This record gives sequence, C-alpha cells and structure tokens, in this order.
Amino acid sequence: ESVVNRIAAGEVIQRPVSAVKELVENSLDAHSSSVNVVVKDGGLKLIQVSDDGHGIRYEDLPILCERHTTSKLSTFEDLQSIKSMGFRGEALASMTYVGHVTVTTITKGQLHGYRVSYKDGVMEHEPKACAAVKGTQIMVENLFYNMSARRKTLQNSADDYSKIVDLLSRLAIHHTHVSFSCRKFGAARADVHSVGTPSRIDAIRSVYGVSIAQNLMKIEASDDDPSSSVFKMDGLISNFNFVAKKITMVLFINDRLVEWTALKRALEIVYSATLPKASKPFIYMSIVLPPEHVDVNVHPTKREVSLLNQEIIIEKIQSVVESKLRNSND
Ligand code: ADP
Ligand code: MG
Repeated sequence: ESVVNRIAAGEVIQRPVSAVKELVENSLDAHSSSVNVVVKDGGLKLIQVSDDGHGIRYEDLPILCERHTTSKLSTFEDLQSIKSMGFRGEALASMTYVGHVTVTTITKGQLHGYRVSYKDGVMEHEPKACAAVKGTQIMVENLFYNMSARRKTLQNSADDYSKIVDLLSRLAIHHTHVSFSCRKFGAARADVHSVGTPSRIDAIRSVYGVSIAQNLMKIEASDDDPSSSVFKMDGLISNFNFVAKKITMVLFINDRLVEWTALKRALEIVYSATLPKASKPFIYMSIVLPPEHVDVNVHPTKREVSLLNQEIIIEKIQSVVESKLRNSND
C-alpha cells in the first residue's frame, strides 16, 4: 500500500517546484500578507515556506496530511477553490510520502504554536508546543529520498531553482498586496523580492526589471454577449518596441496560476502578425470566470485549463490585443 501511495504522490509532486507551488498557494489561501521561501539544493535538500497567515488549528493537525480530508478541516473556507481547481486535498499528504514534512504553526490568540512532523500521511509524534510568531512554516526535507530514479533525473539543482524563482516571480506580480521573497539557503540576497504594493507595474518592475515594466500597456476585455459565458479580463502587455529573449505569458484564471496553451498560441499569432520583429512579448493577464466554467484537467500537476466557450473568449482577447498593438503602432 505504501508503494502505491508513494507512486501516486510522486505524480502529484513531480519536481521541487510542484511542492513550492502547493505550499505557497496554501499560504495565499490562508490570507497571508508575507510569504518567504528558502530552498537548498534546488529543493531536494530543503524547501521552507513561511507565512503570516491564519495558521492551522491544533485539532486539525492530526488529519492535516491525510489525503482528501481538506473539507473536514475547520479552517477550510474556500470550497469554491475545490470546485475551480479540481484536484484538491492531496498536496500536503503527497509530500509526506516522498519527503519529510515538518509543520510549525500558530493560530490567532494562542500563546504558543505547535510543531509536528509527518510521514506517510500521519503524524510521527504528538504536536509539540513551541514558540511561534504568526502563521505557518512548512519544511519539506529530502524530497524524493525514497525515489532514487526521480532523484537522478533531478540532478541539475540550478534548473530546479530557476523554475522556483520563475514561479515566485509570477505569483508576486499577481498577488501584488503580498510580499514575497525567495532565496537559496544561507544566501544574504533574495532572488525574488517584492514588497506589497497596490501597483502592478511597481511589482513587475521590482520582479522583472525596469525595461519590461516601462513598456507595458493596459488592456481590458469583457463579454458583452449575455448568451455566452461571462468573463472579465485585465492585463498588461508589452508594446512593439520591446523585444525580450523569450515569450513570457503570466496567466491567472480566478486567481490561480494556470497554463492555457490555446490562448498563448493565439496571442503569439497576433504578435507576429502585428509586430513581425517583436515576436517575444511579455503578457500578464488575469481572467475571472464563473468557477463552474473552468476545468483544470485530470492531472494535478498539469495546470492546463479548459474553459466553457473557449473560442469566444480567445477571439475576444485576440481582438483586444490586436487593436491595442495597432493603436500603439500609429
Ligand atoms: P488543499 O489546499 O487542497 O486543501 P493541501 O494538502 O494543500 O490541500 O492542504 C491541506 C489543508 O491544510 C488546507 O486546506 C489548509 O486547511 C491547511 N493548510 C495547509 N497549509 C496551510 C497554511 N500555510 N496556512 C494555513 N492552513 C494551511
Ligand atoms: Mg493546497
């Protein structure tokens, strides 16, 4: 049974960055205003995510890392996210089958926090009282220690670390009111550092640099046909003067970072038709849709979405982007 669990867990947590994404999303779900990530050896030795969110109640600790127990937890409020993200209640559980997980947490009004470690879905010992400031710190150590083949395919720690930095960068420019940092263990300097700001351009400047931030144009779209799905989109796109080394498409749907290849391709077409020389745009978009219109696929790590009335939405966004680019060209 434990082999089966381990294999399933290895599907949910495919690389260190998958674990970081799940942990940081949990921190955001807990209404944190600050999320700090520390990584050692590309995440294989250590991933540590600390937040100042609402914490985890003592009575929830025993079942925290059981699979699919999310809805039992008393701190769980966000039923909508189960609906919109499909595959939930698996992440922490999965990490305990492929790594060593230690949780330190304190809830509001408590004098001290608790620390507890988990293995294969269960607590290794009773929660121990400990000093804690605010929120939750989760440490995942020796990820994939029991999956030697996986460890071998993840030898390039620089590559995994850059995936983690990229993830945090994307999250930071969407959740602009939250401050994020990401650093290598022992490093004085953070590789992602954003302070909470109301301005998305400011956030982009501090994460991606001035040259990208100063070349962005605001775009907006919404659905005017009441018979189709109701959506709203707002975003920032690079204008024709800017040529980046590679395309960056940062897409959030209902506040979740997702991949939507069909939209990305559609926008690449618009850029190369409108601005043949500047074919590597920077695109940030946030789309809001009724959650029942969003389907995050079968596979938990594939953040590829499919949407009801995809074509209509894609065409609408394409035409908004195209006219923006043409106008800026005049
Ligand atoms: P899910 O997020 O889908 O519910 P997870 O396995 O990621 O499943 O997390 C399980 C539960 O643990 C969450 O629903 C939440 O109640 C609790 N939790 C995890 N991380 C945190 C955190 N940083 N702060 C507060 N609660 C947390
Ligand atoms: Mg989660």
